[in-house]
Amino acid sequence: MPSMKQVTFRDLWQRFAELVHENKSVLNDLDAAIGDADHGSNMDRGLEKAVEALNASPEGSLRADAKLIGMTLMSTVGGASGALWGSGMLKFAAALPDAPEVTWADFVNALGAFVEALSKRGQAVAGDKTMMDVFLPAMVEIQAQLSDEESLPASMVRLADQAKAWSDGTRDLVAKRGRAAYLGERSAGHIDPGSLSSAFWFEALAGAVGQQ
Ligand code: ADP
Ligand code: MG
Repeated sequence: MPSMKQVTFRDLWQRFAELVHENKSVLNDLDAAIGDADHGSNMDRGLEKAVEALNASPEGSLRADAKLIGMTLMSTVGGASGALWGSGMLKFAAALPDAPEVTWADFVNALGAFVEALSKRGQAVAGDKTMMDVFLPAMVEIQAQLSDEESLPASMVRLADQAKAWSDGTRDLVAKRGRAAYLGERSAGHIDPGSLSSAFWFEALAGAVGQQ
């Protein structure tokens, strides 16, 4: 059974912060089309602070790291995505063992708690044109991977590619949740910004796991 070390977990968030930073204007532009043009700025601000907080925090517990990320995102991201990522990461933390290294199954279980928290808070289902259009199918895949023979790094690279495709797939959807839902049919034709930043999270995960 592979594990998730603290150094890998921190690397994941560092990579996620970098990807969001590099694509800040892409995310803002997507949000400009169907929202209020702040998704890239919101996530970039919060992730910069989260990485800063992680770097200043002593090592020893993945749960403590996840809690710190959740509290930082909750207080700095703002908007719908701040509440979702923030509260989701607090549930992720609560589901994780208080240890410097956890099993991959523990990590996947905590990700399940994250996705469940997002579903409860945001009430979005698959097809509503939100970040859940990436996280819901990704959760199914990552759980299936637990009993798969395929090597973890290879399956995470494949999952990252799928996440990007699921994000692209939000283009044709009509938004049912969040700010974009106010546009109704006019929301179709644009990729949901939160689905793209979520795909970056899976790209960061693949990168960090590949490095482990
Ligand atoms: P805001 O919409 O408050 O400006 P952001 O622009 O930072 O916040 O984030 C928008 C993203 O949040 C959307 O692209 C969508 O993916 C996600 N989102 C919004 N509402 C919900 C919801 N109810 N459930 C899940 N995700 C949502
Ligand atoms: Mg916005």
